[in-house]
Amino acid sequence: MILPVLLYGNPVLRKKANEIDKNYPELNTLISDMFETMYKAEGIGLAAPQIGKSIRLLIIDTGVMGDDDDELKDFRRVMINPVLKSNIPDCVDVEEGCLSLPGIRENVSRFKEILVEYYDENFEKKSEIIRGFSAIVVQHEFDHLEGKLFTDRVSGLKKHFVNKKLNDIRKQKVSPFYKVKF
Ligand code: ZN
Repeated sequence: MILPVLLYGNPVLRKKANEIDKNYPELNTLISDMFETMYKAEGIGLAAPQIGKSIRLLIIDTGVMGDDDDELKDFRRVMINPVLKSNIPDCVDVEEGCLSLPGIRENVSRFKEILVEYYDENFEKKSEIIRGFSAIVVQHEFDHLEGKLFTDRVSGLKKHFVNKKLNDIRKQKVSPFYKVKF
């Protein structure tokens, strides 16, 4: 089932999400609905708060970007209760966008390499070192679980420009091609 994606201004996007355990009701259905929703919206990552569930669950599939990159082609993950541990302080500036912030794309600084611990969809504990673009996507989705958005990381002159666009979303002046909820 395709779920509406919450847009900027919806308070759920600003809440710190709660951990879940394996007894969370209908978890498998929720995960498959999230994948369906993400693919329909042509996204590569989606966090549960973006569909109105304030829980620590995110999904990623960078497959569409993997034409000439095998690592991206196979990077499909479900992460439950993820914990980010950056072990390499090096950062990189990469342009990001977000299904909850249609029409905005900006460079933000992210760690090049992260160590992430999480539970997969079968509640098996995983520990993984992730590098490159996949690491950027994990950091972006992880931010959603903390109630943060990538535009929070934009500073300086760009901030003014971004704030204008955020106001347009809040005033419902956008109409993305996918199902949304203001
Ligand atoms: Zn996002």
